[in-house]
Amino acid sequence: MCAVSENLGPINGRFAPSPTGELHLGNLRTALVAWLSARSQGGRFIVRMEDLDRVTSSRAHEAQQLADLEAVGIDWDGDVVRQSERFAIYDDAIKRLGESGHVYECFCTRREIREAASAPHGELPDGAYPGTCRALSTAERERRTRDGRRPALRLRTNGQRLRFDDRLVGASEGAVDDVVLRRNDGVPAYNLAVVVDDAAQGVTEVVRGDDLLSSTPRQMMLIDLLGFRPHRYLHVPLAVTPDGVRLAKRHGAVTLGQLAARGVSADEVRWLLARTLGLAGESDRPTPQQLVERFAVTRIPRSPWVVDDVFLG
Ligand code: GLU
Repeated sequence: MCAVSENLGPINGRFAPSPTGELHLGNLRTALVAWLSARSQGGRFIVRMEDLDRVTSSRAHEAQQLADLEAVGIDWDGDVVRQSERFAIYDDAIKRLGESGHVYECFCTRREIREAASAPHGELPDGAYPGTCRALSTAERERRTRDGRRPALRLRTNGQRLRFDDRLVGASEGAVDDVVLRRNDGVPAYNLAVVVDDAAQGVTEVVRGDDLLSSTPRQMMLIDLLGFRPHRYLHVPLAVTPDGVRLAKRHGAVTLGQLAARGVSADEVRWLLARTLGLAGESDRPTPQQLVERFAVTRIPRSPWVVDDVFLG
């Protein structure tokens, strides 16, 4: 199976942050690429809040993230959808997967999974579930339930390898593992929710950080099993510090709020991000619309963006 890369019709893009904190420069840069890609193809662009985790997500973060997107010049179509309001839709998709025999109960604790996953198991992605509960008998399942264990639900796979052609990364390939579909506390899992929502919202192009590259085959598998249309993918290299550490808020002045406190405006941040994407020169001050006109995937560097020391410390 291979994600189609031919023309799918209008390109609909999205940015789907988890409202668990402020967006930093790396997040804003990925959002800008997602927006520029969709708009430069005349497409719709939506923002979705991936707030499945009610403990770490908050409305305050959500409002701040939306304000920051607007401040750098990103606009979106329609209402912002929240995953926390769509559990019934995810449950329905899990039910459909179950009906076709693709779901099983997993009673493993985190610790058991960690231990089993650290044993060598061939081609599976890092941290992949090695399938401990895949073949439990009814009696074994009942015993675990009697012991008070609540099962998570996992996708039944055969460790297939799937290929796709990422617009920036190029030919990519990865194995599919038995991902969690619903956690044992009843919360739907990211990989399931993202696939269901992208389909429901008519998304045709997924642009996101390349930390999610290894999740793409899993999601492609779910798309296929649920009968959805495949997407195009564009994975943006992450922002890192000069010593190669993935950028985080603690690294210094890396959010719009932190930068504003140092006298750097949101417009200046957009210009900085545009320069890192090959869309502006040193003294160039493009508007969002000019960036849309200039956007080309071929200009985006394929290596991580090393954030300048001036923003750090
Ligand atoms: N919500 C995910 C995150 O903030 C991104 C999911 C996606 O773009 O597919 O990392």
